[in-house]
Amino acid sequence: MNEKTMKEKKKENNLHILSNNLYMLRAIHRFCKGHIAIVLGFALFSSISNIVTLLLSRYIINTLSTEQVWGKAQVSQIVCLIVGVALYQLAVLWVEQYVSQVILQKNTQVVYERMQMELFQKAAQVELACYEDAEFYNRFSMAMQQADSRALAVLNTFSSFLSALFGVGSLLALLVGIKPFLLVFVAFQVAVTFGMNLRLIRIQHRYMEERMPYQRRAEYTKRVYYLQNYAKEMRLYPKFTQVLEEKFSSAVKKLKQLTEIYGKKLAGIYGLQGSGGIINTTMTLLYLAFQTIRGSLRIGDFVVLNTSVGQLSSQILVILKTIPQLYEHSIYIEHFREFLEYQPQVYQRGRERLGKLEEVVVDQISFCYPGTAAEVLHEISFTMRRGEPVAVVGQNGAGKTTLMKLLAGLYEPTEGEIRLNGRAAADYRLEDWRRQVGIVFQDYQIYAVSVAENIWMRPLKGEEDLNMAEEALKFCGLYEKIHSLPEGLHSIMTREFGNEGVFLSGGELQRLALARIYVRRDSLLILDEPSSALDPLAEREIVQKMWELAADRLTVFISHRLSNIQDAARIYVMEQGRIAEAGNHKTLMERNGIYAKMYRKQNSKKMT
Ligand code: ADP
Repeated sequence: MNEKTMKEKKKENNLHILSNNLYMLRAIHRFCKGHIAIVLGFALFSSISNIVTLLLSRYIINTLSTEQVWGKAQVSQIVCLIVGVALYQLAVLWVEQYVSQVILQKNTQVVYERMQMELFQKAAQVELACYEDAEFYNRFSMAMQQADSRALAVLNTFSSFLSALFGVGSLLALLVGIKPFLLVFVAFQVAVTFGMNLRLIRIQHRYMEERMPYQRRAEYTKRVYYLQNYAKEMRLYPKFTQVLEEKFSSAVKKLKQLTEIYGKKLAGIYGLQGSGGIINTTMTLLYLAFQTIRGSLRIGDFVVLNTSVGQLSSQILVILKTIPQLYEHSIYIEHFREFLEYQPQVYQRGRERLGKLEEVVVDQISFCYPGTAAEVLHEISFTMRRGEPVAVVGQNGAGKTTLMKLLAGLYEPTEGEIRLNGRAAADYRLEDWRRQVGIVFQDYQIYAVSVAENIWMRPLKGEEDLNMAEEALKFCGLYEKIHSLPEGLHSIMTREFGNEGVFLSGGELQRLALARIYVRRDSLLILDEPSSALDPLAEREIVQKMWELAADRLTVFISHRLSNIQDAARIYVMEQGRIAEAGNHKTLMERNGIYAKMYRKQNSKKMT
């Protein structure tokens, strides 16, 4: 009973492996029609060419060695045959080169492009929480990095299998037809190589595993030296480099030891494998020579059978390798499939269209990050209306950013609900909501695309977009700077692709973030106050601009510096995920609670 279940499980597992591999083949077919047919046809064609060449060579050599009287007709026949074989080989060579270097390479690019596009679209859809789930993230990054190369490897496995199957069939017929005893040598060669390969795989796997931690340590030092983020500190603390270099050296020392230990083992196995091969080849040659001397084989047979024994062994090994390869592909494809088939969970149920946002009600919401038990927000309630900016203040870790992520629809509350224009947010289409949200977080990103695209954050539609982008630059005080660049609004930002890329200071980047929300005219603004690293004058000006943008929208400010949000219609003081106090500046000061204490502390700091 138990054995049967094991057998069934194994069968199911094999079917699953096959189904995963076929899934990948279907994906390739979807991305590039005809590619699979070309690859398989190409493999079969090469394999047929090989056997044709073998048979023709055999015929030519046999004729040469047995013909006694060389008349003109026989000479011209043999010359024609030799030239014919050469022409055939030339034709095959050029066709093969053209197909593999041009057609297959081009198709590979198509598969790469289409596959990555599909992954990009999926990656943009999955919720933020997926990026925070370490396991999902690992699988996702593996899918992104390996997708196209793995897809082509799957196809390669199938095409090698097909061509090996044809090769084995035809070579087997040839050997059995002439000297079946040769199969003994084939069997010996296959057994030695296969057995040694199994040992090699095990040893290489162990070698990789043991190397990994040291390799990662060495890589870490390397990364610190070439990543821009670390460059500043590396120069400020020159002695610290000694700490890193020492770590690097000790990791490399360990790697050298491992190389020596495993190098000896690998040399032994490769040596044994090679020796088995040489002994087998010698035995085959002796056997064939003996048969030729005895007259039971002709010279052509001798040459062709010798080649065929080698070829048949290697083709059988290709077939034997197919199963472990399919298994390895299957593990990867599983991740790829899981990622592509993943259905986002956050706010996916609603189908209602959401009109222009007029009111947002946060009603008794509580929240835990997925996979964690700690409640980060607890029973939060407040209301936002157009033209009545609210502010959320509190210590680090109080839950302000988390609350903003919920307001942007990036997560769903664990309890309670958010209502938009009087109806549960979950009833609406998520994209209608997100489209109306404009966020300026402190950790927003600038991309290696043009200034105008960085402002619009979508493809530009025409002259009007450029005019609006200029207006936005004027508003946020960046017009002069961008205009002075040779390519103006079309200048590429960041130095990712070259030194001519636009490089903006922290304050200037903050202004650019303002330009983003200026052009988009979003209804719901979520504004994190500018980084405190800015000089006070720039900070004041940026905060001032933020207030201007807030005038006719639904706005929430997050702030640590209370003087920046004094004018808010309502201020919510958060403490450990709860709203501890609420009111406007005046009432909160009168209450003489947390807010008043924080305010006095900050102001007394300023005075000193
Ligand atoms: P604030 O913006 O007020 O500084 P946050 O909203 O960033 O506070 O963080 C509130 C709490 O939530 C902190 O205890 C933080 O550790 C936790 N937290 C923030 N982000 C995550 C996350 N992605 N996963 C789990 N916990 C998180």
